[in-house]
Amino acid sequence: MFCRECGKEINNKAVVCVHCGVRTGVGEPDAVMRMLLPVGRSGYAIAAGYLGLFSPLLIPAPLAVIFGILAIRDIKKNTHKHGMVRAIFGITIGAICTVLYAYAFLIAPKF
Ligand SMILES: [Zn+2]
Repeated sequence: MFCRECGKEINNKAVVCVHCGVRTGVGEPDAVMRMLLPVGRSGYAIAAGYLGLFSPLLIPAPLAVIFGILAIRDIKKNTHKHGMVRAIFGITIGAICTVLYAYAFLIAPKF
């Protein structure tokens, strides 16, 4: 590959450029890529993330909470796994939507 700073050719596995010393990004955790690709991520966290995303459609809301909790337990057991943000996102959105729908279905019809 070529250095993004000086443009000289460097080893593909080089962590820093041998010519200018700039970091190449190799071996660095890429937060954006990790957010998009389920690499080393807890499967439950992925499920919780997507269920949370679709929680406004009602049915996935309680499932997002359940999978979020499973994800946190999974991540805590396997410390190499990622996805805590997604798990918390799933629980938060799922819980909010569950409460909103519970309110709509249990309380609103009385009016
Ligand atoms: Zn360079």
